[in-house]
Amino acid sequence: MSVAHSGIPDQEEIKRVTPPADILAKKPSVMVECFQHIPCDPCAASCTFGAILPFADINDLPQINYDKCIGCGLCIASCPGLAIFVLDMTYSKDKALIKLPYEMLPLPRPGQLVTALNREGREVAQTEVIKVQKTKQKTYIISIIVPKELALVVRNIKVKESLNG
Ligand code: SF4
Ligand code: SF4
Repeated sequence: MSVAHSGIPDQEEIKRVTPPADILAKKPSVMVECFQHIPCDPCAASCTFGAILPFADINDLPQINYDKCIGCGLCIASCPGLAIFVLDMTYSKDKALIKLPYEMLPLPRPGQLVTALNREGREVAQTEVIKVQKTKQKTYIISIIVPKELALVVRNIKVKESLNG
């Protein structure tokens, strides 16, 4: 099932927006999971490194110059669709770092264990939050650590108020 049919991208769609393997092997990179032609373009202006190319038409899908992306994550909070992530597969031998957008309460705290969710909202692992960044927008940027094999799977977190106090 594709985004158009279920709201959840299929493997082909995910493959199309996954950064090239040679980029992921050497540095952190943005992954823009934007699949539908809608009138929206703040992501392009948000990247001061020129990694998200200017839109010729506001209905275009984002085009990425992965060579220019430094994985800073500043574009994440610009996206009203919460469709932008950063993957760092160089974090360690077996772990990847994911930066993801988060607008729920309660906010997690650095060091807190939270539940990692896949694109369908299913629980797939427990994960550690290592950074919580406030932005100028209402969206926070949360950095989590996951096993590398889940880097293309985990796209959200669930925070329990009772966890760690
Ligand atoms: S992660 Fe940083 S460098 Fe990469 S596209 Fe986003 S704003 Fe630009
Ligand atoms: S801001 Fe988000 S939803 Fe809008 S075009 Fe960019 S990635 Fe897509």
